[in-house]
Amino acid sequence: MAEPVVVATWPFGKTAVEVASKLLLQGKPPLDAALAGAQAVEDDPAVQSVGFGGIGNAIGTVSLDACVMDGKTLDCGSVAGVENIRHVAALAKKVYEKTPHIMLVGKGAEWFALQNGFQLETLLTPESVAEWYKKRPAKKLETKGHDTVTVLAKDSKNLLGGVCTTSGLSYKLPGRVGDSPLIGSGLYVDDEAGAAGATGVGEEIIRIGGSMFIVEQMRAGKTPQEAVELAIARIIKTATRRGKHPASVAFIALDPKGNVGAACTTGTDFKYAVARGEKIELLQAKEF
Ligand code: ASP
Repeated sequence: MAEPVVVATWPFGKTAVEVASKLLLQGKPPLDAALAGAQAVEDDPAVQSVGFGGIGNAIGTVSLDACVMDGKTLDCGSVAGVENIRHVAALAKKVYEKTPHIMLVGKGAEWFALQNGFQLETLLTPESVAEWYKKRPAKKLETKGHDTVTVLAKDSKNLLGGVCTTSGLSYKLPGRVGDSPLIGSGLYVDDEAGAAGATGVGEEIIRIGGSMFIVEQMRAGKTPQEAVELAIARIIKTATRRGKHPASVAFIALDPKGNVGAACTTGTDFKYAVARGEKIELLQAKEF
């Protein structure tokens, strides 16, 4: 039996990998483990970029996006623009379990949540409202702050699962959806190649189909580290071609052997958490 491995974005990813790793060691499936890890972050009001306590959009509303993917079956589910439901990653999983669809958005996703026993609740906290007022752009729309939690898990049978959940860029326009709930952009998982996930400015991740790009590089024989570096190179090249400065973007990847990769654009200061069995580390990604 191989050692379970979990990798997750940002320092709060330590909570996610700790929870997910314990479940993998008990023999739980990788997607369930990744989901429980992501949910622990969704529940933490101190994390103002995911779930409960997330920072509002341009009009102060918390609007959540999430997706999940199972590497064995390629089952995947996704929700976007969801308000007043805390566990959107679990809701994304329900989409493929209970419907013939992959993605539900807005009011339809909220109706589906209520049909499936999710509770309506306000996701704002006094702290997140105060933060929203303090940092809101004075005049023009300026999206800032990103910190999606993406969790990739491999179990002892080398099966993969992944989850991505976020409140998206703070101060985004109402209705804006980033990469995080888009299968192939914010997340992609295939046991035959590997798993990849993203955080950062979603528009640039969507533009290159970031996570699918990385998984296809691994399918073609690249290591996870080589694959994420190629994706960052693609982000930089695309920005240069468009006469722009590369946006803040980071990727993580995990292959079925448990090899991990991470890379980001300059200035992103991206840290990620890795659990190998019971050993948990917070690592700094290479910047390009
Ligand atoms: N990727 C997310 C988005 O564009 C932002 C983030 O990583 O926090 O919505």
